[in-house]
Amino acid sequence: MKVNISRHAGFCFGVDRAVKTCAEISPNTPRPLYMLGNLVHNETVVEKLKEQGIRVIKSLAEAKKGTVIITAHGIYPKILQEAAAKGLNIIDTTCPKVTVVHNLAKKLQAEGRQIVIIGDKDHIEVKGINGAVDWKAAVVASVEEVAGVDFPEDTKIGVVSQTTQDEEYFTEIVAALKRRFSDVKVFNTICESTRGHQQEAKELAQSNEVMLVVGSKTSGNTTRLYHICQELNDKTYWIDTVADLEDDWLKGVVSVGITAGASTPRELVEEVAEKLKK
Ligand code: SF4
Repeated sequence: MKVNISRHAGFCFGVDRAVKTCAEISPNTPRPLYMLGNLVHNETVVEKLKEQGIRVIKSLAEAKKGTVIITAHGIYPKILQEAAAKGLNIIDTTCPKVTVVHNLAKKLQAEGRQIVIIGDKDHIEVKGINGAVDWKAAVVASVEEVAGVDFPEDTKIGVVSQTTQDEEYFTEIVAALKRRFSDVKVFNTICESTRGHQQEAKELAQSNEVMLVVGSKTSGNTTRLYHICQELNDKTYWIDTVADLEDDWLKGVVSVGITAGASTPRELVEEVAEKLKK
């Protein structure tokens, strides 16, 4: 059996950087250690963080003292101010590429544009971008939601995207915004890592008999990868770990493609590949 693994399968640059930062926290750093929200939606990673003494919290109210780690997805300014006011130490692992999106949104706003963020409104990265523009942005996740954008038709619009959005949805939503508003300035802020990831997943889904997507069911970007692959290959299966592989899927199969969400540790992908090769 030929096993073809996506070069991008596994942590993206920002998540990898954040995981490494957590692993290198000095013993002198004030304890306890808290992570505000999930760095990635992956149970294996959350368990590893626990082993390092890092507890994931949902809100700052849960941290009375010690250190708060901001995830690679970034956060909004008010949280940083609140943490500082509480005397908490902060380790900020915001991905530099997410910071670029904050800055572009602020630039568009300073030009007098109303901001539209293409993304999932409940995702922390999107909240961070919206917070950077004083919560004045509209958030849309689909073409249908463009109709609900509450700005007058002659509004100048500035568009940015959550870094992990699907390229095709992005293009469709921008087209819908341009049909509704005459002056739309767009920054496609889908990150290179996401773009390469999606492109390679498409190629693998088309060139292999079976396609495996490895990652947690709670991960947004793994979900998107699964849907992208499934549209192109109906023998696409989504597994959390190697333990979910089923022999029936692989009977007589000569080529398998593997991809994984940006939140999936590369080791989990290698484990799947090893099992297939055996
Ligand atoms: S997807 Fe891109 S922007 Fe988002 S954390 Fe990863 S590398 Fe950074």
